[in-house]
Amino acid sequence: MNELLVFVCDGAPVRGEIISISTAWQAVLERRNDPPAVRRILGDFVGAATLLSASLKFDGTLIIQAQSKGPIQLLVVECKSDLSMRATVKLSVDSSEIAPNASLGELLDAGSSGRLVITLDPSDREPGQPPYQGIVALQEQQGSIIKPVASAAEAIGLYMQKSEQLDTRIWLASNDTHIGGLLLQRMPDSGGHAHIDSQNAAEGWTRIQTLGETITNEELLTLAPETILRRLFLEESTENGVRSFPPRQIRFSCRCSRNKVADVLRMLGEEEVQGILAEQGAVETVCEFCAKPYRFDAVDCLQVFKTDLLSDATRPPSSGH
Ligand SMILES: [Zn+2]
Repeated sequence: MNELLVFVCDGAPVRGEIISISTAWQAVLERRNDPPAVRRILGDFVGAATLLSASLKFDGTLIIQAQSKGPIQLLVVECKSDLSMRATVKLSVDSSEIAPNASLGELLDAGSSGRLVITLDPSDREPGQPPYQGIVALQEQQGSIIKPVASAAEAIGLYMQKSEQLDTRIWLASNDTHIGGLLLQRMPDSGGHAHIDSQNAAEGWTRIQTLGETITNEELLTLAPETILRRLFLEESTENGVRSFPPRQIRFSCRCSRNKVADVLRMLGEEEVQGILAEQGAVETVCEFCAKPYRFDAVDCLQVFKTDLLSDATRPPSSGH
């Protein structure tokens, strides 16, 4: 099951999402060799990216990057608005040095250098127009105490509060075969929920959060989204109304291609590439997201730079005189 279920409450200004990801998550893991503690954190961020991208109001890609000077140097999860996703992690130490129970705080140096970058990249973005980017530290100052975040859910909550100014609660759980998640978001009191007065709206948000808090990791990891929705909101549904939409499919998909690797070679320049060829006989690289190998021998490289010349030659003459 790789499903995302969206629901809205009629008696409270709340929109929610529930995910259950299994084979799509296993497709990410089978291409990688991360230690258990890293897999857990990556799983939680894949869940978070899927939940967040489903609330995007445009066609495009949501990218979560966690960066630190800790053992996880870089973690990247990309999820497109069609719910296709890919993920990768770069470690600064050997996998064997990471304890099985290492926490997010330790791995992402959440006490000092860790930060989260969330990028929203619309597919119709004009060349030169930068994508929207929000950055939050993975620590919270409480008086004179700096408190590192304990989980991906807490990190995302912090981001939503600081960048989007939307009350959002997220619950995430992941293991080696499944990712489960629940998102609750308070909608503006105007709009579709204008019939609810502000006191009822505030009470409704509290009521739905209280129901959300009863979710367990076990339920998130084993139950289908429809079952979770029924269990958590049965009474709310009978008394006030809860509507769900047809479930959407989540899948693993990498966007790497031979053409994109060729573009990288062109950016390196012919001289640099000739140097690699002279030293190693071929240019070899592996996609960091899906582990697909790419190999360009001398003839391929010649083609790469010839194509560049060809595309130059076929380019329409410049009109700027
Ligand atoms: Zn790839």
